[in-house]
Amino acid sequence: MNLRENSRGEDVKTVQEILKQLGFKPGGVDGWYGEKTEAAVIRFQEQHHLYADGIVGSNTWRELHQALHIHIEEQINPQVENGYQTELMDWKRVPADKYRDGYDRFFLRQDAAEAYMRVRERVIEAGGKLTSSGARRSLNAAVSASRSATSFHYTGRALDLFVGSAMENRNRDPFVVAADGDRCWRVYVRAEGGESMKIEAVTYGSRNQGRLISGRFIDLTALFETQGFKRIRARRSFFTGGSWLGAEWWHFQYENGLEKGVSTFGDELLKVYTEKQIRRTPVWQYRTRIFGVNWF
Ligand SMILES: [Zn+2]
Repeated sequence: MNLRENSRGEDVKTVQEILKQLGFKPGGVDGWYGEKTEAAVIRFQEQHHLYADGIVGSNTWRELHQALHIHIEEQINPQVENGYQTELMDWKRVPADKYRDGYDRFFLRQDAAEAYMRVRERVIEAGGKLTSSGARRSLNAAVSASRSATSFHYTGRALDLFVGSAMENRNRDPFVVAADGDRCWRVYVRAEGGESMKIEAVTYGSRNQGRLISGRFIDLTALFETQGFKRIRARRSFFTGGSWLGAEWWHFQYENGLEKGVSTFGDELLKVYTEKQIRRTPVWQYRTRIFGVNWF
């Protein structure tokens, strides 16, 4: 997209509205990119260290939205200074059930930790297990094909159940996994106090063809969902014989408080790290990714 002098339309109107909100005086909000709008864009670009050509391309467009978001947040939340929150959210250590090489504890940011504990309470009550392969990812961890550069793990919003605690032995694993629509899974916890169910369980060895098993289970995917945790899709390659690490049945991410088209990866990093801590790390370059647009 490129908006410049004499452009017309809804996007121009959006640019004018944002500039007006931010105090850059673009003239009337009329959808016509005139001289005043161009001058306001140049002032905005200069102030934001962008190439000041008076043209709204994708960088300026993104920066405008981010600046608006910060502006709104500043009005709502007086703790925010210079656009960044000065009070960080705590990381909380939460317990998990050790299973084989899994962990017996991991870290989440405070609100996600509290939501996780509500899920855990219900699972333990029914006699089930919640295992862990960890949650918090180091900011300096290398980004690779199997690790998203903008993973929720960096922001304290994601957890992984132990990767070896399902899809191996349908009759004994603490979890069983069933296909549930387009590359999605439904994960069940085996628990005496659960419901009696029949589940078409898949394994790493038999990925496309489930086998019916019965037992007592809790629908963990549904339980997580009630507390704001969403599943993610398996990688396409998983179904065509690719690495078992593409299954992703174990991953749940806490999406409460995120707004599609508004929340950015950078905003979320800044809730748990200071800018000083993150600005030289590899993930910081992805800070402008927007939730639901180019950050999932
Ligand atoms: Zn994960």
